[in-house]
Amino acid sequence: MIVAGIDLGSTAIKLALVEDGVLLWHKAAPTAPGQEKIANALLAEGLSALGRAGEGVKKAVTGYGKNLMGGAEFAIDELSANCLGLFRQSGGQARSLINIGGQDVKVIQLTAQGAMSDFRMNDKCAAGCGRFFEVAARILDTPVEDFGALAATVAEPARINSTCAVFAESEIVSLMAEGVVKEKIIGGLHESVARRIAGLCAGRRLRDDVYLDGGSARNSGLLRALEDELCRDLHVLPLPQFTVALGAALAHPEA
Ligand code: ADP
Repeated sequence: MIVAGIDLGSTAIKLALVEDGVLLWHKAAPTAPGQEKIANALLAEGLSALGRAGEGVKKAVTGYGKNLMGGAEFAIDELSANCLGLFRQSGGQARSLINIGGQDVKVIQLTAQGAMSDFRMNDKCAAGCGRFFEVAARILDTPVEDFGALAATVAEPARINSTCAVFAESEIVSLMAEGVVKEKIIGGLHESVARRIAGLCAGRRLRDDVYLDGGSARNSGLLRALEDELCRDLHVLPLPQFTVALGAALAHPEA
């Protein structure tokens, strides 16, 4: 039996189709009005790709928009889904996780059994999360998907001092006006976000193994900057944006 894990996030809707604990299909779509419709369209696309019928498919919803999804018989909070999805995917190795989503950052500690033992979240602010990069991407006319590779080409990133996304925006414009190349600016943005996330981790004793997930974990430049800032190795699983959707599916009582 297929279980559909549906993560209605602030920035992206993620679907994970799972059967017998195995991820069969996944896809994300931008969050927009009509979230239930978008999620159901993803589900129909996934079932069609797998050549499977919709009857009997169970839905497990999570994420900030989970209450918008009618017809789902099972709902789970995103922290529990994140812990379960990551712990299982890491083969039980994960003890700390940093989730960098579109509009927030969460630092979570796990017990040896995968339960959440500590949790901290940034104040609702774009400065330390995916939204910050999206704003920068627009100004720099460069997709966020290219940020990691571009930042890897510079040894000395520009210094971005502003901790606020709004002020950082004008700082980026000033640097561009001074002729600073965008690779250096992007490198500086990674360092700035990494400093902010490290601040959120301060006082928390991160325990190995530490994993990074959420959509922004796909940015290799942010991963490098965060490893430098925290002075430790971080792990990123192959599908970091789908950990929460997968965890929701795995948590379904009939999974
Ligand atoms: P949420 O659950 O809050 O909706 P996600 O965990 O889905 O957030 O992450 C969304 C963020 O991931 C967006 O800000 C987006 O820019 C970022 N993102 C997605 N894919 C990539 C990528 N390949 N490189 C860099 N950032 C990415």
